[in-house]
Amino acid sequence: MNTEHNTQPGRVALVTGASRGIGAAVARRLAADGYAIGVNYASNAAEAEAVVAAIGQAGGRALAVRADVAAPRDVRRMFDLVEAELGRIDVLVNNAGVLPYVSIAATSDEVFARTFAINVQGTFNTMRESATRLNDAGRIINFSTSVLHAAPPTYGVYVGTKAAVEAMTRVFAKELRGRGITCNAVAPGPVATELFLNGKSAQQIEQFARMAPLERLGQPQDIAGVVAFLAGPDGGWVNGQVLRANGGAV
Ligand code: NAP
Repeated sequence: MNTEHNTQPGRVALVTGASRGIGAAVARRLAADGYAIGVNYASNAAEAEAVVAAIGQAGGRALAVRADVAAPRDVRRMFDLVEAELGRIDVLVNNAGVLPYVSIAATSDEVFARTFAINVQGTFNTMRESATRLNDAGRIINFSTSVLHAAPPTYGVYVGTKAAVEAMTRVFAKELRGRGITCNAVAPGPVATELFLNGKSAQQIEQFARMAPLERLGQPQDIAGVVAFLAGPDGGWVNGQVLRANGGAV
């Protein structure tokens, strides 16, 4: 195992949407920090198993768990399975999300409902479950976006979901009083994953990359490091906050 960051042996993290993109990098980073990992995915079993295999090859422990975070029954089963196989849950990373690029005028009822179901109800479902099932001194890390305040065209439904996630994050941090559990959100800027890159021209991608004074796109590992900070002992005094990680773009 990569012991460079190995600070949390014996603890267990459940990462939603960990088959690809930022979630896969978070799963691998937290595994390198010593956590056993529940690698949640919706449909890409092969990619989730590849993340589990990579963690295993590095000397860590992980389990792939299929669950649609929008479905409360799936979420309960996911917690049951992770508890049964890995013994406990200390950290919940609510990373699963979707981003439809569409103007409000052109958004179908189905796209609106599905985006809120995954991004908002998905985060709600796992937070509700974690209220009774996360260990004391646990950590919850939700996912917002730095684009929330820029609010550009075609991001209406998406930023609507992330505004709801930020609001619930602040309330839940207070409702967890007495348990020693923190609840925060990370709000990345553009990160080079399928969610961001799909449908964009090379020129558009270059424009996004130039937005930050650091003059590049974020990489999944950049965000994984922020999640690892919030999940670990050094992040313990940060609670009820939204941490923007975007190279200075906003
Ligand atoms: P991504 O590469 O598209 O990966 C999305 C992940 O979410 C996949 O593992 C996918 O599983 C999973 N997923 C989708 N629907 C799900 C559902 N109903 N139940 C369970 N899992 C589901 O996305 P990403 O770029 O890594 O984004 C991760 C998070 O960061 C999202 O919340 C996104 O809003 C946020 N974010 C991203 C950026 C960016 O520029 N990339 C910027 C700001 C915020 P399958 O593989 O099984 O489909």
